[in-house]
Amino acid sequence: MRFFDFLLLSLVAGACKASTVDHATAAASQQACQRIAGHLGASIVQSSGAAYDFAASNAWNFANALLRPTCIVFPSQAAHVQAAMREIYRAKSRFAVQAGSHSAMKGWNNVQDGVLIVFSNMKNATYNPASDSIILEPGIHWGEATATLSRFGVAPVGGRVGDVGTGLLLGGGLSFLSPSQGYAADNFKALDVVLVDGRLITATATNQYSDLFRAMKGGANRFGIVTRYEVQAVHVGTDDETPFFGGFIIYDGSTAEALSKATAKYVREVNDPQAVLLTTFTTIVLQGVLQTIAEVFLFYRGTSLPPSIFGDFLAIPALVTQVGPLSYTQVLATIGPESVNAQRGFVQHMGASALAGQEQLYLDALTHYQNFTNTFMNPASGAGMNYSTLAFTAVPASQIAAGRAKGGNVMIPANLKKGFAAVQLAQQFNPGVSAIPSFVQQGIDLLFRQVPPSPGLPLYVNECDAGQKVFESYGGYELLKATYRKYDPERFNVQHCQGPIGL
Ligand SMILES: Cc1cc2nc3c(=O)[nH]c(=O)nc-3n(C[C@H](O)[C@H](O)[C@H](O)COP(=O)(O)OP(=O)(O)OC[C@H]3O[C@@H](n4cnc5c(N)ncnc54)[C@H](O)[C@@H]3O)c2cc1C
Repeated sequence: MRFFDFLLLSLVAGACKASTVDHATAAASQQACQRIAGHLGASIVQSSGAAYDFAASNAWNFANALLRPTCIVFPSQAAHVQAAMREIYRAKSRFAVQAGSHSAMKGWNNVQDGVLIVFSNMKNATYNPASDSIILEPGIHWGEATATLSRFGVAPVGGRVGDVGTGLLLGGGLSFLSPSQGYAADNFKALDVVLVDGRLITATATNQYSDLFRAMKGGANRFGIVTRYEVQAVHVGTDDETPFFGGFIIYDGSTAEALSKATAKYVREVNDPQAVLLTTFTTIVLQGVLQTIAEVFLFYRGTSLPPSIFGDFLAIPALVTQVGPLSYTQVLATIGPESVNAQRGFVQHMGASALAGQEQLYLDALTHYQNFTNTFMNPASGAGMNYSTLAFTAVPASQIAAGRAKGGNVMIPANLKKGFAAVQLAQQFNPGVSAIPSFVQQGIDLLFRQVPPSPGLPLYVNECDAGQKVFESYGGYELLKATYRKYDPERFNVQHCQGPIGL
């Protein structure tokens, strides 16, 4: 258990107030739910009861757990999703989709007075050695997928926290395997997609849906509902094998400047596809006092952490160093489900930036993060925030090249050759807080303006603020817009489903 993980924060009590919706919206979702239930039956379509209550309130962001859908559809096959989508489209109902439930963005994985599609009954993961492919159903979580597939010695390029789900793929996906394999989405081989009108298609890089296939590598929830992912298998070894070396190092907050410089240097100089780096600064309120610690996750596919790559991090005095030989399952368990920010019951917020390798950018980001936390995590501020993070994920040039070699995605601009860092700025609020106070949101917005993305770098849609213009930052923005017009000419998705802006 790590330094801040023992902070077991109590579950939230307190009633929640349903947001009001107009009569037409409520009537449309009632109609859709009745018709879907008519097709699929009461066990698949539920409007009350234990399964409904659990699914409706299971979203990781407590702000989403407060929403009450008119009904929840629990599909076990693509045909169920088709039936649901056809009726949602016909009734002009609002809707949302939920896979692993970890979206931080309000309204992106649950819906008030609409139809929610929850994939908890579609959780298979299989390996096909003939094609060296992994087939994932959308309801599986990364920890479950790794546990199922490790006996074959393979893994998908997936999340770094086991409890997160497959929605990660549609936003791109930053994995511990990414420096050698590209974004998670770069590893798509085929996608079964239910389009907005209920048609089911299979998209690949070479068939008639190749434009859709590419758009779904970063297009998030805008282009259809995926009912089956076929992805490239990565040979990571079984649980008896330890081809990786690494783990985590925890530092006192006083090292933050040195770590920021080391991270910038890593981003500038390291382009070894076997090397992985995630640098995090976390601030918590401990007995009324702000405490910042830094934690670095560092891995190498090999037998040690090469000093030429990780020497700066190893030289900074640490509180705890836990590194050693690891199986892939152990690599994935390093962040661990006990991390405070993996737990449910708290209003959450995320925002994104992206930085090139200049040292000053990292020092500035750190300063603004510290100013922000000192202001809003001071208990006297009334912000109700208990946890704040600044995280840098190194996206090396090798990751960009690996993605291009696999066909490319809509995120990375064609002329981008150098590595960068995907930046996450996240906040968690106290139990009992059900919405982010507007003065805090203004502070968050200011923080984003103070830590702007370096020119030409894409923001990461899975860790953004809902108001950030992520799609506009993509190299393939024009393709994204054209593809959206083609597959959803009536703009049904953007009008009836919460998700990224800009289409
Ligand atoms: C604790 C934590 C750790 C994280 N770690 C990482 C990480 O290591 N790497 C990384 O890249 N990101 C990470 N993220 C961000 C993560 O990628 C996003 O939160 C992602 O959206 C989660 O996917 P999900 O399936 O769990 O969530 P959901 O909220 O269920 O889904 C996310 C979005 O995708 C949509 N969606 C889901 N499934 C489908 C589908 N089949 N068809 C169409 N739309 C769908 C949902 O509607 C929603 O908008 C992390 C987030 C958290 C909270």
